[in-house]
Amino acid sequence: MYVPLLDLKLQYASIRQECLAVTEKIYDSQHFILGPYVEKLEEEVAGYCGTRYAVGVSSGTDALLLSLMAAGIGEGDRVITTPYTFFATAGSIARVGAVPVFVDIEPDTYNICPQKLEAAVRRMDEKTRQSVKAVMPVHLYGQCAEMDPINALARENNWVVIEDAAQAMGAEYKGQRAGSLGDFGCFSFFPSKNLGGFGDGGIVTTNSDSYYEMLKILRVHGASPKYYHRYIGGNFRLDAIQAAIVSIKLARLDQWTQKRQENAARYRQLFAEAGIDEIIGCPLEKQDRHIYNQFVISAESKRDALRDFLQAAGVGCEIYYPVCLHMQQCFADLGYAAGQMPEAEAAAARTLAIPVFPELTEDQQAYVAEQIRSFCS
Ligand SMILES: *Cc1c(COP(=O)(O)O)cnc(C)c1O
Repeated sequence: MYVPLLDLKLQYASIRQECLAVTEKIYDSQHFILGPYVEKLEEEVAGYCGTRYAVGVSSGTDALLLSLMAAGIGEGDRVITTPYTFFATAGSIARVGAVPVFVDIEPDTYNICPQKLEAAVRRMDEKTRQSVKAVMPVHLYGQCAEMDPINALARENNWVVIEDAAQAMGAEYKGQRAGSLGDFGCFSFFPSKNLGGFGDGGIVTTNSDSYYEMLKILRVHGASPKYYHRYIGGNFRLDAIQAAIVSIKLARLDQWTQKRQENAARYRQLFAEAGIDEIIGCPLEKQDRHIYNQFVISAESKRDALRDFLQAAGVGCEIYYPVCLHMQQCFADLGYAAGQMPEAEAAAARTLAIPVFPELTEDQQAYVAEQIRSFCS
């Protein structure tokens, strides 16, 4: 049997007519950038996330970059984040000239650990602490970071809170949606995200009038009005085609999320029945609404062997992420050493994402579980 990690063709088959109809309209209009489809999506996403505003942008990476710029973060500033995430999280911090400061994760959720965050801030000398301007928690794999203590620390220290919610559209923390938990919520429409476009795209949510204005101005090279540049922004615009496709998918997102959650529950049951739930470490569902962008198991020291075994058996799987950000070559000058972020380093060595996409069948899941069981025995 062949079980891909993700099969977008099945999803496309269910929305094909709608997608073709709307793209045809956009081709006929010859209006490709920003415009009414983007505005419609912005209203829908703001409504979905429970925020006052949303600003469509060119990618999830640009959502992070633009938020940092709108918050005025740059040279000489520090931004605290997790070392266990996609590169763009820390890459965007470095690109505005700020210094990423890494704080280790919780071993059970893989999200930044609030206790370690507090300890790290307490250890800083006064000058370093003053230079910290923001915190960028990541809601990894579709589960929100522990936001209450993070927000409390942020208030105490006057930090801007930028949520990297690229993997977490629709995730909830204590009944509140990802993107509404900080000052900025950054989402990606990269095709493999739960809400993906037909290319690159992203969106930033906010409740702040002033940040909203800055996001909109910086999105178009800092111009307001057109050709009068108050700031140096960039081209962070979203395409009409991406917005229209994402709108179509947003209407079905909750239904797809429910399928992912059912698939996650079925894996737990299958692994428990096979007596291997301890060995392969199911993800912890700590927050209310985990949207399972990934279902990530922990295979201790046998991870790489398990990956090879599954791939040979036709089961798609992937390591997110094999190298922690504090160990990346481009951040060598930050001066981190191996062993400094033990939980993140352990996660990078142990975790493996297996298929959890909405269209996955029960037979396919049973096959995946059977392969893992036979590897374990
Ligand atoms: C996907 C992702 C991004 C970047 O989004 P793009 O749209 O690919 O630029 C940023 N952070 C995290 C955690 C992601 O998963």
